[in-house]
Amino acid sequence: MKLEHIGIAVKDIEQSKKIFDALFGRQSYKTEEVASEHVSTVFYQTGQSKVELLQSQSAESAIAKYIDKKGEGIHHLAFEVDDIYAEIERMKREGFEMVNQQPKHGADNKLIAFLHPKSTNGVLIELCQEIK
Ligand code: ZN
Repeated sequence: MKLEHIGIAVKDIEQSKKIFDALFGRQSYKTEEVASEHVSTVFYQTGQSKVELLQSQSAESAIAKYIDKKGEGIHHLAFEVDDIYAEIERMKREGFEMVNQQPKHGADNKLIAFLHPKSTNGVLIELCQEIK
């Protein structure tokens, strides 16, 4: 599995863009609203992997709840897989708890599914597969 991206929960994505533009010395390559997740996202390419900034668009979103509980910071690690359906089944066989039993459409043209952090040492892990 390749580390596809690291998701960072932020309160104000416009402010955070300035910080990360300065950090990386260049601008993000994509901004996308993900209506189903009630989030805005911004992506940076960082070598083989990406950084995804996530800002909540609604108090109901997972990002809003995360920031309420833990504040801004690293929210999830996303690993790229070739066959997300097969990987979900494999994870279940290995005893991991899936948040999503079926993949759903995520940002950046991906099918995604999350593993519950209580089965992965407190780290929220996303499986993702590019939609071709
Ligand atoms: Zn992600």
